[in-house]
Amino acid sequence: MLQNIAIFGCTGSIGRQSLDVCRRLGIFPRFFSCHSQVELLAEQIREFKPQAVAVTDEEAADRLQTFMSPRDRQRTAIYRGEADLLNLAQEPVDRVLMAISGFAALAPSYVAIQAGHDLALANKEAVVVAGDLLLPLAREKGVMIYPVDSEHSAIWQCLAAAPQGSCRKLYLTASGGPFRTWTRDQMAAVSPQEALAHPVWSMGAKISIDSASMMNKGLEILEACQLFRVDESQVQVLIHPEGIVHSLVEFKDGAILGQLGMPDMRLPIQLALTWPDRIDTDLPAFDFFALASDRSLNFYQPDDQRFPALALARLAAREGKEAPLILNAANEVAVSAFLAGQVKFTGITDLVALALDHFLAGPRLTDFSLNGMIDHDKLVKAYCRDQVSTLGAQT
Ligand code: NDP
Ligand code: MG
Repeated sequence: MLQNIAIFGCTGSIGRQSLDVCRRLGIFPRFFSCHSQVELLAEQIREFKPQAVAVTDEEAADRLQTFMSPRDRQRTAIYRGEADLLNLAQEPVDRVLMAISGFAALAPSYVAIQAGHDLALANKEAVVVAGDLLLPLAREKGVMIYPVDSEHSAIWQCLAAAPQGSCRKLYLTASGGPFRTWTRDQMAAVSPQEALAHPVWSMGAKISIDSASMMNKGLEILEACQLFRVDESQVQVLIHPEGIVHSLVEFKDGAILGQLGMPDMRLPIQLALTWPDRIDTDLPAFDFFALASDRSLNFYQPDDQRFPALALARLAAREGKEAPLILNAANEVAVSAFLAGQVKFTGITDLVALALDHFLAGPRLTDFSLNGMIDHDKLVKAYCRDQVSTLGAQT
């Protein structure tokens, strides 16, 4: 079993569940990173005794020592700030679990791949924005990318059962989120608390809002196009409220394979950490007869009118180049603004649509290097922040 692993974003929802997997498997990761939750990080250090940790918020990094015992301070080195996070990404490990949320995962993912480390990839934004940069680099370096996102883990498991090139279509399942049956008018009035309450999964704030707006599924269409090299027209979204079928693949001969299981992220996390092995686990197993009161699995077509995020993501996928970056950057600003009470829930996709219109009509990005994309992300976000006040007043 792999022991020599790093967990980036160890204090988040995926990070904490990854540590639970490690606890159950007897793995002691050697490197951790978080942004600012240093009290929790200190507890994790006490339990797992890593060699080094990185804290990107420098003020929080200064506070970390005060929560650590003298023994932990002696054993565990502390890296501070964004540049040091990239140094941590170069430390020699067999696998990096990337669970930093948002665009912030791009640079450490790039550096980890550059250093030849296999990635268990939970973060989706990096590959959505810069798949054209990360995936060729991974191929060049012989780096494996094991998807953690449950749908992509399911698809990857199904694809492993058939010869390459035999896939016709991907079915990406979606719970539909808390507003699955709501009208657009009803959605305009929802509070952050309502949008954060996901019916199936317990997740970080950003992805919970993305799930409610269906932008999460939009990002996942783009993620699937990158990871599995398919066209967006080959990716069909299926609303599946029970969250049991994690996704499916239709092959050229018409056969469909799906992956089923409990909606528990620890399962895809464990697989991405232990692949090519499947390890026995005491996590709750799926019981067909305890499924639901009517013992049924349901599948519906998504409604693009009520959830414009899906059409926006498909537009970005067809457009390619920097369009997914624009979509992602605008969405990150819009989600923060919604959580801060500055825009309505329906204003999130309004802002994304506005940013795509604006930037796709103007001078286009020509520098698709890591730094070129980091600069463009800043530019789009600055524009979107300016728009937030106008949009907040209108919507
Ligand atoms: P959380 O918000 O719960 O956790 C994010 C983690 O990243 C925390 O450790 C946080 O540190 C750290 N972080 C935040 N901002 C920065 C930054 N600027 N620089 C460095 N580190 C940072 O997110 P989730 O765990 O929910 O999601 C993580 C990723 O996994 C996302 O891309 C999401 O889409 C994807 N994912 C999540 C699923 C889930 O069930 N949660 C399912 C499938 C995919 P701190 O806590 O100190 O702020
Ligand atoms: Mg998912």
